[in-house]
Amino acid sequence: MQEKELAAYESEEPTDPKDTELWEPVPEKVSTGEPGTPPGDAIVLLNGKDLEAWESAKEEGAPAPWILNDDGSVTVKDGSGNIKTKQEFGDIQLHIEWKNPEEPRNDGQNRGNSGIFLQGLYEIQVLDSYDNSTYVNGQAGAIYKQHPPLVNASKPSGEWQTYDIIYHAPEWDAAGNKTQPATMTVLHNGVLIQDHAVIEGTTEYIGWPKNNPHGKGPIILQDHNDNSGVSYRNIWLREL
Ligand code: MG
Repeated sequence: MQEKELAAYESEEPTDPKDTELWEPVPEKVSTGEPGTPPGDAIVLLNGKDLEAWESAKEEGAPAPWILNDDGSVTVKDGSGNIKTKQEFGDIQLHIEWKNPEEPRNDGQNRGNSGIFLQGLYEIQVLDSYDNSTYVNGQAGAIYKQHPPLVNASKPSGEWQTYDIIYHAPEWDAAGNKTQPATMTVLHNGVLIQDHAVIEGTTEYIGWPKNNPHGKGPIILQDHNDNSGVSYRNIWLREL
């Protein structure tokens, strides 16, 4: 609660119920459909028809080289590199669905490894973690190398899974000092696995998190370059 609002609560005790009613601003109406489908004010990033919202992260301006399947899902094309959204974002609510291959192809970090990088810098891990041991801050739902998931809500290999993410971007002052860390709340298949987790900086494979000031950034999907076979579908977000 803001200080200003708190002060208001310390003024004379209201005696009329109307004194504590708030009528404006009226929350905007948003149309909704089935759970998981994009609400009316969403930006749809993967619509089952094309990869128009995406481009190659490896080759500047090149089309996203991943595989568009007949069912509208998209599969990582091994070795083709990451893909990123053409549009850049700050604070968002993100819905994303992903799937590992039905037959696991490997173990540990090489079993269905992909990832979703918020602002291109902060990875929430995608991995087949149903029955697959690895370091816990690198399993599915981990904010990579920083926060393990609170529980393991993974589905068996080959089943579609969902992440619903509330992300708040970090902020810096003009001198380049971080004034607000990024935070992430994540539901994995509807289960809370990150509860307003504070992101310490970039999610590095080797080394400590880095904190260089930045503005909006793209969403990047990872090609882990190990024949992961990971697929995505139904990706949408709302800017917050
Ligand atoms: Mg990854």
